[in-house]
Amino acid sequence: MKLVFLGAPGAGKGTQAARVSEATKVPHISTGDMFRSALQNQTPTGIKAKAYMDKGELVPDSVTVEMVDERLKQQDCETGYLLDGFPRTLFQAEALDALQPPDLVINLVLPEEELLRRLTQRRVCEKCKGTFSVSMLKNHEICPTCGAPLVHRLDDQPETIKERIVIYNRDTAPLIDYYQAQGKLRSVSGMIGLENVTREILAIIGALA
Ligand code: AMP
Repeated sequence: MKLVFLGAPGAGKGTQAARVSEATKVPHISTGDMFRSALQNQTPTGIKAKAYMDKGELVPDSVTVEMVDERLKQQDCETGYLLDGFPRTLFQAEALDALQPPDLVINLVLPEEELLRRLTQRRVCEKCKGTFSVSMLKNHEICPTCGAPLVHRLDDQPETIKERIVIYNRDTAPLIDYYQAQGKLRSVSGMIGLENVTREILAIIGALA
């Protein structure tokens, strides 16, 4: 099963892809997580990506496509992929079509004010990659799942969030039409609650079998 999770920053792509991965055992591949761990390990890709990530800009297509190409060649991708945060440009979508085209594209839809609210409140665990809202946390510093420290991502600060949404509207939103034209787009409201969103996605995937 090859699925792409599309949606603006804060739409819940990572959370939903992780839940669908748990249910289906298809690997969850987040290019944002890959860049962050490349940076932590100070690899050449991570060092190249840092300046773009800090500003909320997109890492150049060539670097991103090469990283995804390598990842899709790994053995666990024999069952397919759940791509979260890739593709983000038409160039990337065409590159993916040339490598391994998706079966379906799940488009998570939320109003912009809700995206802003979620991103401002988001805290992420560096260790288990869990994502939490401060409104749900007793202790804003510690991951409730694994006990590691939580971080407020540098690119989740208000000015950078606005920039990321502008870039999403300019570079990534055109992919909605691209996949619609291929008959692969399935839009799901992100406002119906975490569990219901997952249930709806699993129902859509069930239709694949
Ligand atoms: P994310 O965690 O998906 O919000 O990604 C964090 C940052 O990583 C983005 O703001 C970009 O700087 C970079 N990034 C992640 N995925 C891509 C992609 N497909 N193309 C270019 N840059 C990306």
